[in-house]
Amino acid sequence: MSKPRIEALDGDITRLAVDAIVNAANSSLLGGGGVDGAIHRAAGPDLLAECRTLGGCPTGEARITGGYRLPARHVIHTVGPVWRGGDAGEPELLASCYRNSLALARAHRVRTIAFPAISCGVYGYPVEHAVTIAVGAVRASVAECEEIDRVIFVCFGAAMLGAYQGALRGI
Ligand code: ADP
Repeated sequence: MSKPRIEALDGDITRLAVDAIVNAANSSLLGGGGVDGAIHRAAGPDLLAECRTLGGCPTGEARITGGYRLPARHVIHTVGPVWRGGDAGEPELLASCYRNSLALARAHRVRTIAFPAISCGVYGYPVEHAVTIAVGAVRASVAECEEIDRVIFVCFGAAMLGAYQGALRGI
């Protein structure tokens, strides 16, 4: 059984020609700032039109749409937790974002998928904690998984890339 490749890259997630990119959305799914805004700008207005039909998404869950003008075939929208100090279920909710996104990916025959650093922007999740959760949840979800070939953690900047590389090395 082949193991999926899990790696971190510095770059802009909207430019990746993977089967699915994950959007760190808010619960309305109607667009926002950060990576969400970048994805909607690159995908064009048809993405928002499809998102309007979904009726939002609770924190920790995920929904899938087309990719429209993006090089990616699908967008998986997941809603990360807002950091409130760590005692409000944030770690479990963040892990659920990665797990639920990968479950949806598998159900839609996605073999290559890219994640941004969910909750690490305006939602304020401390990066070292978030990357540990992200790497742990992805590893657990794709262990012995035949359907996923490649998971990419897309990092905006060298500091985030260093954090992911450390987590992937198990530091
Ligand atoms: P959240 O609301 O979940 O915190 P943000 O979009 O504010 O989401 O930030 C999530 C992460 O995505 C941050 O680390 C931010 O630097 C990064 N990011 C922003 N734009 C892009 C992009 N185009 N590609 C990849 N990562 C991005």
